[in-house]
Amino acid sequence: MSDDQHITAPLRLFNSLTRAIEPFAPIEDSHARIYSCGPTVYNYAHLGNLRAYVFTDTLRRTLLWKGLSVTHIINITDVGHLTSDADAGDDKMEAAARASAQSIWDIAAHYTQAFKQNIADLNILSPSEWTVATDYVPQMIEFAQKIAPTHCYELDTGLYFDVSTVPNYGGLAGNEEFKSAFRTKSAGGNISDINAAADHAADRAAAAARIDPVAGKRNSQDFAIWRKSPPSEQRQMEWDSPWGKGAPGWHLECSVMSQARLGHPFDIHTGGIDHREIHHPNEIAQNQAYCGCTDAEPGFTGARWWMHNNFLVDRSGKMSKSKGGFTTLFSLIDAGVHPLAYRLLCLGAHYRSELEFSADGVAAALTRLKRLVMGVEGLKARAEGVTWQSPRLDYLRANLHPKLVPLLEQFDAAIADDLMTPRALPLLEEAIAIKKIPVDEKLCLIAAFDAALGLNLVTLGRADLRLQPKDAAITPDAIEAELERRAAARADKDFALSDEIRDALIAQGVDVMDGDPLRWDWRLTLAQGS
Ligand code: AMP
Ligand code: ZN
Repeated sequence: MSDDQHITAPLRLFNSLTRAIEPFAPIEDSHARIYSCGPTVYNYAHLGNLRAYVFTDTLRRTLLWKGLSVTHIINITDVGHLTSDADAGDDKMEAAARASAQSIWDIAAHYTQAFKQNIADLNILSPSEWTVATDYVPQMIEFAQKIAPTHCYELDTGLYFDVSTVPNYGGLAGNEEFKSAFRTKSAGGNISDINAAADHAADRAAAAARIDPVAGKRNSQDFAIWRKSPPSEQRQMEWDSPWGKGAPGWHLECSVMSQARLGHPFDIHTGGIDHREIHHPNEIAQNQAYCGCTDAEPGFTGARWWMHNNFLVDRSGKMSKSKGGFTTLFSLIDAGVHPLAYRLLCLGAHYRSELEFSADGVAAALTRLKRLVMGVEGLKARAEGVTWQSPRLDYLRANLHPKLVPLLEQFDAAIADDLMTPRALPLLEEAIAIKKIPVDEKLCLIAAFDAALGLNLVTLGRADLRLQPKDAAITPDAIEAELERRAAARADKDFALSDEIRDALIAQGVDVMDGDPLRWDWRLTLAQGS
């Protein structure tokens, strides 16, 4: 194998603009540019938020797998995101600062750091750049000045964007006319059940209900570009502007930062499916207004592809920060669950499907991860060379054992098919299990698969997966010592002592798993830390 014949599946991605799967080609040769709406740092990210970044990371890794270089921007929203999406309520950051009697800057720094920790724990590649909204306020004012004369009007409360001044406003959220205007000839692809489910989950009714009638708005969907500080109030974050002291609107931030760092149009804009309803249509309207090319270039939106992950839900519905009681990655780790088990849980579902979070689901993902890690550890113990540690697809193509070629092809086809990770994972498992292949060659393929999936299998070991639940009183060393004492008692046929030791361990939350097929021997029950 000397050419690209085994990594040939054309990359096809679902574009929310057309609601169709389309062949992907970057605007610049061999280089893709992605912008991902980042977190609002007034609280810890919940597991649902993090699903959005596992999705983006899978997208980025797939582009890398396909041989493209990638520039990826994630922003940090530290100003402007209101408690209601419709320009009503408080700024989330201001409200959090008031509730905790801390400075907004301290709050933003704390939760930004926590978010970056989550990203690292999930083995998500760091973006090429983090853009912080408050660093871009002068550019936001400039942007607003340019569009204000033809697209905005001023009220006592701020500067508002008149959505009737751009064609097909809100089309991304589901306007048929808009979709056909943007559907390219090459679109192809059919609208599958996944799309229908995604449409349902977008929760349009809820989005519509959030449109708040700010007094004086020309259209209910008009949104704030600039929010003036109320005369009686001193905000912690406010800037001078041609429209008075105030703060930028949330939607403006992403238009400005994406343009500043990537240029318009860039390739792919990502976010959760809730953003398909308001935030992204508003960004598109601003981008159209700014480029002034709404008539000449009806297809202009600022990005060629708009991609959205579906929700992580729990039994009570969509997981959200504002609802409270959300589960963070930190709380999962405190319960003794390795964070990559959550990544694996996400990869087990297609990004456009709803995913239900449950303790059982994540425990099953942890077991699946243990099997993967132990399988790879077993192979590593028998490996001779080290070439597999940084696999390159060209090396792989040239050296792959013929029996592994179908696995490589199927894996390539799966991730190229709109990131079908649920189809790719069993192929990884097959690669670990396949018999009568030199170990180094298997490892080489496994490492390449893992570069796309991001489970860190090359370095992760069994011991890494044993996280100590935060509330557990007993340490792993003490458990191992007790188990040794128990093994000795059993060897002496002192079953009374053996049972006594086991009961004492159970009382401390240790599940002793005699005969565990994974040879895991013991585990601390999840309930200990949760
Ligand atoms: P936020 O911090 O609220 O701006 O959200 C950060 C990202 O998480 C955005 O892309 C949201 O669309 C996404 N998101 C919010 N809730 C969920 C959820 N339950 N499941 C998946 N993605 C979500
Ligand atoms: Zn955004």
